[in-house]
Amino acid sequence: MHRNGQNPHVVIVGGGFAGMSVARSLAKHDDVNITLIDKNPYHQFQPLLYQVATCQLASPDIAFPHRRLFRKHPNVVVKQAEVTSVDPRAMTVTTNTGETIQGDYLVLAAGSQPNFFRVPGDEHTFPLYSLQDAERLRARILELFDAADRDPKLIDEGALNFIVVGGGATGTEVAGALSDLIHGAMANEYPHLSASAARIYIFDHGTALLAPFSESAHSYTARVLQQDGVQLRLGLGIKEVGPGHVTISDGSTILSRTVIWGGGIMAAPLAAKSGLPQGRGGRINVQPDLTVEGFPRVYVLGDFANIPSPDGGTFPQLGSVALQNGQWAAKAIRADIEGKPFGSFHYHDKGIMAMINHGHAVAEMGKHHHEMHGHIAFAAWLGIHAYLMTGVRDRSDAFMDWGWDYVSKDRTSQKLDRSNTSKINWGDDDQVEAADSQQQKESELQPASR
Ligand SMILES: Cc1cc2nc3c(=O)[nH]c(=O)nc-3n(C[C@H](O)[C@H](O)[C@H](O)COP(=O)(O)OP(=O)(O)OC[C@H]3O[C@@H](n4cnc5c(N)ncnc54)[C@H](O)[C@@H]3O)c2cc1C
Repeated sequence: MHRNGQNPHVVIVGGGFAGMSVARSLAKHDDVNITLIDKNPYHQFQPLLYQVATCQLASPDIAFPHRRLFRKHPNVVVKQAEVTSVDPRAMTVTTNTGETIQGDYLVLAAGSQPNFFRVPGDEHTFPLYSLQDAERLRARILELFDAADRDPKLIDEGALNFIVVGGGATGTEVAGALSDLIHGAMANEYPHLSASAARIYIFDHGTALLAPFSESAHSYTARVLQQDGVQLRLGLGIKEVGPGHVTISDGSTILSRTVIWGGGIMAAPLAAKSGLPQGRGGRINVQPDLTVEGFPRVYVLGDFANIPSPDGGTFPQLGSVALQNGQWAAKAIRADIEGKPFGSFHYHDKGIMAMINHGHAVAEMGKHHHEMHGHIAFAAWLGIHAYLMTGVRDRSDAFMDWGWDYVSKDRTSQKLDRSNTSKINWGDDDQVEAADSQQQKESELQPASR
């Protein structure tokens, strides 16, 4: 029971890893009331978005309805609404439905949005940060193969050129999965289209893919992708994106209808409407105990926060950080309700890992980042994703079945779901002619091989 004789009310904004983990931890205590607000009716499991985009998993495999997850907890109210502002002094949040909700504790965990770093033409890109993004990208890939099959001349207009911007985990994983799709299901579905007609390029300003990993992981990743025909363009960025082309920082142009944006993230737009101090990436700066200075009952978690780490920097934007933030904040709130002090956030580092393509992954496990490549790294990748799923639900059967199929069979069955496909206007790019000559040069220089 709280000071005013009522159960304390915890208002959580965002049902991602961080918000869900607070809600799940506190839901067990029926002397706490919880309101969980998310603009989507489901939790989206972001680390598997690219599997949906590349037809390896279906959308329901990675989207878990919030209401269903809390149906056995009468102390949890789930609201589907977008929070449009926060008043940390009044301890209220206001939604796009006009409702203002007050809490004894506010937990802000609204996650990230893509950062386009002011590159013009972001409306022509395919970011990969939500389930809608993944479905939109899948629809585009399938539509392009259908279109190229109907009219092979479209290949010369860049129909099967896939540009991946950013050589971090998102860009690397999506490029590898796309290559698997093209050389697997697409080669079977469209036997008349040569798989080598499709080209995948990764652009990154830096000198290596998967920069946070070791040098041997960099060269392993580059080797695996290049063997798969993926063309690495390191030390180069994208200057501008048009409806049918991209302009590269060296002034050249490539024709493409699919520019996948994995170029960086920043805090979700709500951060700017929270009245709280923003730092790097627009994220809200918090203290080591995850509260905002001057607001002891306002917690900011996960990708939405800059959280000081013991090495003097901040924790990375990772699912495992967000999940553990949520568990920590739940304990801190319990302690505060009981009038007990609680310390700074402590992170159990599980390591970092990325899947490159079928049968190839890199992992640096545990605090000392013990390095692994290949199948054993894939097993570690599977394990960490199963761990992340426990933050959302008790069982992860569909995912584990998929993982098991993925290692034990040549290819998993593909989900070639064509919903959301929309017709492409092939005459909408006024740069096509100029870009065409560069395209010609590119194709002479770099025939894709496998
Ligand atoms: C493609 C991709 C692959 C990734 N792979 C990995 C990986 O392999 N391993 C790993 O550890 N991490 C990975 N990450 C990072 C990981 O997904 C994030 O760090 C994690 O999701 C952050 O959790 P969060 O709860 O802070 O935010 P999110 O999971 O983004 O959740 C934020 C929630 O807030 C909701 N929301 C946002 N704004 C509002 C609003 N105004 N009102 C109401 N609701 C709102 C959103 O709908 C969402 O449900 C990946 C991320 C991406 C994009």
